Amino acid sequence: MSSYPLGAFIVCDDGLDLRLSVAGRLGITTAQILAPGPDGRSSGHVQTLQRTFAQAGVQITVVFCGFAGESYADIPTVERTIGLVPTATRAERLREARSISDFARAMGVDAIGLHIGVIREEDAVAYHQIIDVARQLCDHAAAKEQRVHLETGQESAMTLLRFFKDVERPNLAINFDPANMILYGSGEPIPALRLVGEHVKSVHCKDAIWAAHPGVDWGQEVPLGHGDVNMELFLQTLKEIGYVGPLTIEREISGEQQARDIEEGVKLLNSLVEKVWGLQS
Ligand code: MG
Repeated sequence: MSSYPLGAFIVCDDGLDLRLSVAGRLGITTAQILAPGPDGRSSGHVQTLQRTFAQAGVQITVVFCGFAGESYADIPTVERTIGLVPTATRAERLREARSISDFARAMGVDAIGLHIGVIREEDAVAYHQIIDVARQLCDHAAAKEQRVHLETGQESAMTLLRFFKDVERPNLAINFDPANMILYGSGEPIPALRLVGEHVKSVHCKDAIWAAHPGVDWGQEVPLGHGDVNMELFLQTLKEIGYVGPLTIEREISGEQQARDIEEGVKLLNSLVEKVWGLQS
């Protein structure tokens, strides 16, 4: 496999076979998946999913956690509902994340990923609680020889870097999503990538346009190459930080337009991988 295989973020619902056939046609050989709900994580489902992905020639690289009750409706709602930050659901979601780690292990996957929630350094008590829950999840995953990848974007790179130093767990890593930095107004993505580069173990190739009022309103997610990320500079910076791993396209729409945009994204990445690394992806 190439050092920079193409990947896609794939949801394992009724459309999975179609998504995998599109992936095969486009030369996509890796995937990050959203973990199925508890009913879809039985040993029978594990075997079926393993067989489906193996037959498609697609290797799963990260299993992402999603939690009941999460909403991305607007930035304040994200702050209130996402990840392990909201206190009312924290214990239950930690249990769910551990269960997803077990599922990922059964699937033979070495990493789980999640939006941990919006980390605020200003509130010392809340900050230390989230460090504690991150440690608990990392320790569970470490026992299964897994990494925990935090999706970027909901806080600045400086806050994230401090958080990594404070959690002090070697299996904590970053899934760097440059578009999220723009969508949430958390800072310029390329300097952020340089700052946290040593922790980056997976990436989302996604693009976005800044909002008129960054951090107040959402930016707009757009097809790869049509936004403010600068994909060539993004890949060039991945090269600078020594990143080796999948280039996982994420396009947060569904249906035929998503498939078309992913196809265009593949073409763009193929040309950029050749230009930046001098390689075939
Ligand atoms: Mg992402």
